[in-house]
Amino acid sequence: MATAQRTKLRNYINGEYVDPVDGGSEEVINPATGEVFAEAPLSTEADVDEAVRAARAAFDGFSRLTPAERSNMLLELAEAIGEHGEELTDLESADAGKPRQVFLDDEIPGAIDCLRFFAGAARNMEGKAAAEYIEGRTSYVRREAAGVVGQITPWNYPLMMAIWKIGPALAAGCTTVIKPAEVTPVSTIRLAQIAGEILPKGVLNVVGGHGDPAGSSLVTHPEVDMVSLTGSPRTGKWIAREASDSLKRVHLELGGKAPVLVFPDADMDRAMETIAACGLYNTGQDCTAATRILASEKVYDEVVTGLAEQAASYRFSTDMSDPDVNLGPVVSETQRDRVAGFVERRPDHAEVVTGGRVPDLPGSFYEPTVVAGLEQGDEMIRDEIFGPVMTVQRFSDEEQAIEWANATRYGLASSVWTRDVGRVMRVSRALRFGAVWVNDHITMANEMPHGGFKESGYGKDMSMYSLEDYTVVKHVMISLD
Ligand code: NAD
Repeated sequence: MATAQRTKLRNYINGEYVDPVDGGSEEVINPATGEVFAEAPLSTEADVDEAVRAARAAFDGFSRLTPAERSNMLLELAEAIGEHGEELTDLESADAGKPRQVFLDDEIPGAIDCLRFFAGAARNMEGKAAAEYIEGRTSYVRREAAGVVGQITPWNYPLMMAIWKIGPALAAGCTTVIKPAEVTPVSTIRLAQIAGEILPKGVLNVVGGHGDPAGSSLVTHPEVDMVSLTGSPRTGKWIAREASDSLKRVHLELGGKAPVLVFPDADMDRAMETIAACGLYNTGQDCTAATRILASEKVYDEVVTGLAEQAASYRFSTDMSDPDVNLGPVVSETQRDRVAGFVERRPDHAEVVTGGRVPDLPGSFYEPTVVAGLEQGDEMIRDEIFGPVMTVQRFSDEEQAIEWANATRYGLASSVWTRDVGRVMRVSRALRFGAVWVNDHITMANEMPHGGFKESGYGKDMSMYSLEDYTVVKHVMISLD
């Protein structure tokens, strides 16, 4: 166990690093090696209270800055992320098991672009025109910052989710307390200090710790005006129930079970390569992951074989700095065992075509896996696996494909693979998901909204819709007498 160079992390409150009030901490494990590499703060209600007070104290001043002033800070932060890109990559790679080069190529530029988008968005808020809607009175609309926000992030994209949350919040003029997931707090705690050199004190605070008590104290704190979570439906529902007491605003992104509809006229080479890449991206730990494949019976065998070949070509190793490694470990042993459990409990009619084992490596790896022959109603089709496991089902016609695709409690993302324009229009309209990709999957643009229907939650990330979510609308009417 590498404990000698273990980094001791602290909460970031009101512009400085502080230890939790009761001094609690917990080991952080590198999932690629199984080694402990950091100690993270375990916050309690008292720490959350201190952070929320700091955010509250900073709110008036920050929300009254001009949009241009906040925009410039976001641009400066984007620049600083770029300057610290290698360092943040090392931290995230060790903490979340990300292949270094993939993170450097995808997530660092993605984080920078997200902040730049919200820097521009801050200066481009739109609304109804001021006018005399009633004779003798002028009305106009103000969009004001929602207030102090509690932002709770997951472990699959720790830095990126923190950026997706702080971008719109800061652009709108909100101040924030972020609680990263307990298994992956490292990059967010570092981000706080990088941002702290740019933002006024108390605008961005980070508290480490578990869902309970750290996260729950943030949700129930009376001075928190809005809570935003990316996580599981179970936590989202708990937050919505708790928030109902004070009617604070809630913004929830709760995962998905994305259907991938492959029709016989699809460009099959391109489809197989892209679907596997988007099913295994981030080791399948992605709420939009292309892991629930529905293949027409006319191409079912081709799809099963194609995906299995693709999956078997993925490279994993304990060395995340190897540029050829494109599949990391599952984030923790607990999560890996959860993923393995789905495959072990598979029904008799299912077939593991490739993978399906825990490799003989340290850390928490799981082989890239394809399971075919699954049926609607099977556990692997119903529930989010959140690991490198793709399932394949056989459908007979378009109607059945749509019915099965929609028969899920989730509604975040979907894709359809066909060259028939009429089918594209019919299917994309019929799919009940917050995103539909056509001959593509996972590709995102900061200008476009990301968010779910049904139990995938409500509220949007990215885009102007997200900025609007962090504002409240006020009508001002002036009598002209
Ligand atoms: P989770 O919902 O428990 O954790 C997400 C975040 O919520 C973490 O920061 C956690 O500390 C916090 N949290 C937990 N309970 C809380 C509470 N009562 N109050 C406030 N905050 C609380 O999710 P998990 O257990 O880490 O993962 C379980 C499953 O959720 C995964 O297997 C996957 O299916 C899904 N998931 C989805 C996403 C996504 O992107 N939507 C991300 C991670 C996990």
